[in-house]
Amino acid sequence: EAKRRGRSTVQFYDQKLQQQMTEVHQLELHLRGALERQELRVLYQPLVNLASNIIEGAEAVIRWHSPVLGVVSPSTFIPIAEQRGLIIPIGDWVLDTALQQVSQWRSEQSPDLRVSVNVSPQQFEQDDFVTKVQSKLARWSLPGETVVLELTEGTFLMDLDASNIKLAQLRSLGIQVALDDFGTGYSSLAYLRTLQVDVVKIDRSFIWAMPQEGPTFVQAIVQIAHHIGLRIVAEGIETVEQRNGVRALSCDVGQGYLFAGPVPAEQFGRLLSQEEWPSEEQAF
Ligand code: C2E
Ligand code: MG
Ligand code: MG
Ligand code: MG
Repeated sequence: EAKRRGRSTVQFYDQKLQQQMTEVHQLELHLRGALERQELRVLYQPLVNLASNIIEGAEAVIRWHSPVLGVVSPSTFIPIAEQRGLIIPIGDWVLDTALQQVSQWRSEQSPDLRVSVNVSPQQFEQDDFVTKVQSKLARWSLPGETVVLELTEGTFLMDLDASNIKLAQLRSLGIQVALDDFGTGYSSLAYLRTLQVDVVKIDRSFIWAMPQEGPTFVQAIVQIAHHIGLRIVAEGIETVEQRNGVRALSCDVGQGYLFAGPVPAEQFGRLLSQEEWPSEEQAF
């Protein structure tokens, strides 16, 4: 009896594993060519200055509408794109699209607007990454100051010295570098100490834990980051309470559904023309 049950459990896991492999394979299959078939879109989420209530930036995030699979979350398909060598052309396209868009917004609406673009480790590791970014900036006649590149702690696992050389090259072009999802890695403080970056994006798990944990962790991150001259973005702000909390702790910028989720470019343009973000007395 036990033996039979044991075997069926093995079979169950086996089937489950096989099913997952098939799903990954399906995704990969449909993801190849998605760019050419124009199934990918870039959405923009406001980055709101917490002191002035003004939108100072837009984070570009990718969306995939597959006619076969429906809407697939980037958390699902980006890791597959990274493993299967598809992330380079996709990442190039996101950067180019985001730069074109921000150049339009800067000339028509908000001269100081910045765009933040997520960069996968495989992109950052390319030998010609800096040159690529530089030539894309030139293509849209944009100064480096227009761009923030968002990198996660996992990007720097390989070689910190080599990473810092590349970061210095990017920063000498005026480009800013942000540590994304800060605090979720295994040695966040070591990275903060070693890497030459401009911005820290505190992961939303810290923001969400504040009612239970209290402000200790966010406060400590803010203190260290400010002390070494970095700006701080608080991710995942969904409530007025969270917004007030991170503002009281002197975080510089807020991002989250309270302000707006990622929206299509036309809609983002309308948000920009609101000038100032509605305060809690209004709207919400
Ligand atoms: P991320 O860079 O940390 O992006 C923020 C994610 O948090 C986005 O999810 C956004 O929709 C979500 N978010 C923003 N505000 C809130 C909020 O208030 N509450 C909650 N619950 N979520 C919020 P999304 O668009 O699903 O992207 C997930 C991740 O996929 C991104 O995390 C980023 O790591 C990656 N990603 C997205 N676009 C790209 C891309 O173009 N290239 C690369 N390499 N990665 C990308
Ligand atoms: Mg990001
Ligand atoms: Mg993030
Ligand atoms: Mg995050």
